[in-house]
Amino acid sequence: MRVLGFGTNLLVSDEGVRGAVIKLQEQDFGKSRFNDDYLTVGAGAGLNKVVLDCVRKGLSGLEALTGIPGSVGGAIRMNAGGNFGDIGTSVHSVTLMDADGKIFEKSKPELVFDYRWTNITAKFVLDAKITLAESDKEQMLRTLKEVWIYKKNSQPLNIRSAGCVFKNPRGLSAGALIDRAGLKGLQIGAAQVSEKHANFIIAHKGCKSGDVQRLIEAVRERVKDKFSVELELELDIW
Ligand SMILES: Cc1cc2nc3c(=O)[nH]c(=O)nc-3n(C[C@H](O)[C@H](O)[C@H](O)COP(=O)(O)OP(=O)(O)OC[C@H]3O[C@@H](n4cnc5c(N)ncnc54)[C@H](O)[C@@H]3O)c2cc1C
Repeated sequence: MRVLGFGTNLLVSDEGVRGAVIKLQEQDFGKSRFNDDYLTVGAGAGLNKVVLDCVRKGLSGLEALTGIPGSVGGAIRMNAGGNFGDIGTSVHSVTLMDADGKIFEKSKPELVFDYRWTNITAKFVLDAKITLAESDKEQMLRTLKEVWIYKKNSQPLNIRSAGCVFKNPRGLSAGALIDRAGLKGLQIGAAQVSEKHANFIIAHKGCKSGDVQRLIEAVRERVKDKFSVELELELDIW
């Protein structure tokens, strides 16, 4: 049994997967409720819409996540974020469900987030309580714009990809290592290392999952040969 968010950080095998794939539909699992202290939001909600809703209400806490595609559930599972911050910083608690259907809550400090990692092991994230603070709307809109421009200038957002392929090794940048190994633009089948950001693999028309997987292995090998660094996947491969 697998849980699907919006699929923005997934590479699914050309053969598909054996078993059930469960998606928390936005219409049932995407509701938001604001109260004085928190936003309670369903895991199926689109992250970008939630960020915008908060800013429009003058509530600060999620602006750093501007432009990150995907669902709230996926963002929590991956602790999505970037140079400006991550979602874990603002999460107060989550409602989880295990594979047997048992529903329970987990709050900080029991709930831990780290770089693209969380200690959530339950199968489903159902919803989250996010801590927000009242703030100046104009200032927040400026931050939103700044984050968006940074993202647009540094990542290939208009071409199909699954986001960053590898985690940054401690103290290093995976993209910079791939770039320094001379791999920008390397293509296998219809999969290509992005010229704009070397940690993105872009999928040209007709691209197969197998093309991406072979390119991932080629990049890994070359980076290991050149820098003795083992790149670890950020992307989830099914
Ligand atoms: C153009 C582009 C730019 C991106 N930029 C960034 C970035 O700046 N920073 C960043 O961190 N990521 C980035 N990503 C990666 C991706 O957007 C994030 O990881 C996102 O949070 C994944 O959300 P999703 O709903 O698409 O999850 P999916 O890709 O569907 O799933 C990802 C993982 O989360 C699990 N999952 C999903 N929903 C749930 C749930 N409700 N309960 C339990 N598990 C669940 C899945 O089983 C899977 O293991 C980018 C991707 C793209 C395509």
